[in-house]
Amino acid sequence: MTEPHFERQVDRSHMQVSDEVAIQIENMNKWYGQFHVLRDIDLTVQRGERIVIAGPSGSGKSTLIRCINRLEEHQQGKIIVDGIELTNDLKNIDKIRREVGMVFQHFNLFPHLTILENLTLAPIWVRKTPKKEAEATAMHYLEKVKIPEQADKYPGQLSGGQQQRVAIARSLCMKPRIMLFDEPTSALDPEMIKEVLDTMIELAEEGMTMLCVTHEMGFAQAVANRVIFMADGQIVEQNNPHDFFNNPKSERTQQFLSQIL
Ligand code: ADP
Ligand code: MG
Repeated sequence: MTEPHFERQVDRSHMQVSDEVAIQIENMNKWYGQFHVLRDIDLTVQRGERIVIAGPSGSGKSTLIRCINRLEEHQQGKIIVDGIELTNDLKNIDKIRREVGMVFQHFNLFPHLTILENLTLAPIWVRKTPKKEAEATAMHYLEKVKIPEQADKYPGQLSGGQQQRVAIARSLCMKPRIMLFDEPTSALDPEMIKEVLDTMIELAEEGMTMLCVTHEMGFAQAVANRVIFMADGQIVEQNNPHDFFNNPKSERTQQFLSQIL
């Protein structure tokens, strides 16, 4: 398999999976109206896992990760995040959203706010963090994603790759314990994909629990401890990356891999 984005060595020494459960999904089902979009999903994520979710378009990948921070509501079964069950209880939803950061394909930055203001908005208004402190935290994470010099610019003045790194930094400002990524590099030009993946690799190296929907199979091989393959709203197969790519069990998985690799 050729993968141009991964000449880089990934340090797995800190990527340890703990015994602690971060996310527990039990027999979960979801419908959009009559359409049964997620079927009998069972998934346990330990703290420190880096999970890549792969599968054809329309298989329910986005819906699954959106259910984990209640951007979508499930109708059956259980989702428990950091020991808190997701129900209609708004206090619990709020608690879980504090733990779970999310990065989308489209960066969803506020175009009329500077980069620094984008990063401090939620900490100041939602968390009531003093402005000076919120700005110091924001600069810390802008340095981490290697664009502190862009703090006073507006999103439209940055490249797509830079905007996505701002979006990641913005999530980190809320100090999440779990990060969800939904095709974070799909809207980027090839030369910008690497800088965003590098940022994600660094997060993984620091031990972040991550669920990433991505077509970057080189990233999956280098970083993931588990690859989950979805089709038609179900988890069809899951395995460590080596066995997933070299010895896929189901025909659906084989067919999918033959198309993308
Ligand atoms: P993936 O991310 O794997 O491409 P999605 O989770 O976005 O898949 O979508 C799964 C299925 O649910 C698709 O058939 C899609 O058309 C449908 N779907 C997604 N969002 C909605 C919605 N808000 N209302 C109705 N159907 C939806
Ligand atoms: Mg999707």
